[in-house]
Amino acid sequence: MPYFLKAIKLSLRYRWTILASVLNALLIGVLWGVSITTVYPFVEIVFEGKTIQTWLDDEIERTKELAQQYGADVAELERQRITGASDIELPARLEQGRARCGKAQETLSFYQTLESWLDKRIPSTPFGTLLMVMGFLIAVTILKGVCMVLNTVLVARVANRTAMDMQRIFYRAALGMDQQRIETTGAAPLMTLLSHNIGLVSAGLKSLYGTSIREPLKMFACLIAACMISWRLLLISLLAAPVGALLIHHLSKRMKKASLREMGGIASVLQNILETLSAIRIVRIYNREPRERCRFKHSARSLCKLSMKMAYYDSLVRPISELVGVVCLAVAVLAGAYLVLNQQTHLLGIRISDKPLTASTMFVFYAMLAGISDPARKMGDIYNVLVRAAVASRSLYTFFEQPAEIAAPADAHPVPLHAKSIRFNEVNFAYRPNQTILKKICLEIPFGQTVAVVGANGSGKTTLVNLLARFYDPQWGDIFLDGVKLRAMNPRKLRQQIGLVTQEPILFRGTIWENLIYSRPNASREEVLQASRIARVDDFVRQLPDGYQTHVGERGGMLSGGQRQRIALACAILANPRIMIFDEATSQIDRATEQLVHVSLREFLKQRTTIFVTHRLSTLELADRIIVLDNGRIVGDYSYAEYMSIQNASPPTLPAAA
Ligand code: ADP
Repeated sequence: MPYFLKAIKLSLRYRWTILASVLNALLIGVLWGVSITTVYPFVEIVFEGKTIQTWLDDEIERTKELAQQYGADVAELERQRITGASDIELPARLEQGRARCGKAQETLSFYQTLESWLDKRIPSTPFGTLLMVMGFLIAVTILKGVCMVLNTVLVARVANRTAMDMQRIFYRAALGMDQQRIETTGAAPLMTLLSHNIGLVSAGLKSLYGTSIREPLKMFACLIAACMISWRLLLISLLAAPVGALLIHHLSKRMKKASLREMGGIASVLQNILETLSAIRIVRIYNREPRERCRFKHSARSLCKLSMKMAYYDSLVRPISELVGVVCLAVAVLAGAYLVLNQQTHLLGIRISDKPLTASTMFVFYAMLAGISDPARKMGDIYNVLVRAAVASRSLYTFFEQPAEIAAPADAHPVPLHAKSIRFNEVNFAYRPNQTILKKICLEIPFGQTVAVVGANGSGKTTLVNLLARFYDPQWGDIFLDGVKLRAMNPRKLRQQIGLVTQEPILFRGTIWENLIYSRPNASREEVLQASRIARVDDFVRQLPDGYQTHVGERGGMLSGGQRQRIALACAILANPRIMIFDEATSQIDRATEQLVHVSLREFLKQRTTIFVTHRLSTLELADRIIVLDNGRIVGDYSYAEYMSIQNASPPTLPAAA
């Protein structure tokens, strides 16, 4: 619950809406009580043939008698006081008697004023009165309906807006999360958290501010009315309620566990869909649809099982609350019937009322109990919603509130404008414990140098450049930019000086132009066109009917891999960074275009430090220096000429075609 409290706290920014909904719920509660109270005149009219006037006459008569009796009591006490009786409680009793007498007089004058006011205004026949009561009931129900609509809208506003705020907050947290955590968590669980879990929290808030305020208020109105008839009888009737509460509490523990597992199940189904759809061509080419269907069936089935378990627990809540309700009603009926039939005021030695209850009063009491049981049943229904919301908020907050390790330190060092060097000092790095990927890397790259990092797959080339962008921090050793440790810098500020083009550039849904300016939204048109010329984007854009306004589709899927790489390259060039990282950045660009790109890049790369991760010999032409990595270690550091002479001395052997 403490985590759900955080969500509640967040929702308090809409406190005025909450207040309006609570006031509205209060009105609904009163109207509910009022509409049920109409049972009383109904019973009096139908069973006793009374009208409001005759009822008032009776009440006036009864109150008069009471006032007279209290008056006589007071007179007697006065007499005792005058005769000097030695009762030390006399003054207090006299005080009490006077108060009672005064109250009875007040009630009497209220009834008399009411009678004279109502005299000409209300029907005088029983049927006319009944008509009026029913008309009143309908009017109250209409008003209650309007309030319900308003209440639902207000509550939905709070819940939906809070959900939106949570989405914003947690999405921000997701964007600031450590790369490693994003990778190990995976997209599907993150999506489940951000959509499904927040949905559950929102539903919880809806129930909290809606049903769980409205229904108890409705209950409260009936409880007060029942209390006024006999609070002792009400207490006896509600004896079974704590047993029901205990049972439901016990159920909630199981619900929490099931709900948590259900969330895991949803993430797994989502993961399946995401994976299959993103690799749909591979699935098709190898005819693996049956396998994917089977995998999906498996995870969907286990989700279904988990949901069934949840539904089972869910289904238990209502019978329990209904059973408790019926037991309460049965106790009330038996106790009430005993009192009315035997005209008793005591039950098992306990005083229930001052004078024997009438059948019609008992009927109203039962109506009040029914009025309590309906909201109680609805409260039972929201129980699982609240449990799920609590579980969902726990997962959300515990996941997103973990601080990122790669963040700006409190006393972050200003990031120097790169003009000297990049230095790796005995850097060791592992993604997982005991699996060192980079081993004792010592490397200094002077400003302005173009370095190519080559080596076999998995030798750690990408990892090396990722460390430079501070996507990860090394476990051992340090990386320096112009003599300042990267760890001491704000990673966001550091990245302002770095441009990165990867082997598989992913574009965003939108136009080519929008993707080009992603790195610098306020770049001038001329700058964008210049970058696009260097990366040879304009060559293919000119042939497109919509030019730069062509939509690239989801993840840039409507363009070829080479075209995507060229757009990503132009985007990085537009950012005008001091450090350029090309991770197999031109691997999908055809040779002829690549040559053209190199010609224009050569000029651009002057006065910046560039690191190429590459396999292509053609890319090496741009490099001043070539670093060879093998199994996480630097095993060679050559100039371009040296490296080429080694290559020529032992030309690479290509595998024979099958
Ligand atoms: P290269 O770029 O030289 O092909 P990488 O730097 O991409 O190699 O990977 C080096 C090693 O690190 C590989 O064995 C790879 O399996 C592992 N690796 C890469 N990325 C991750 C990651 N996010 N989590 C765990 N292991 C990884």
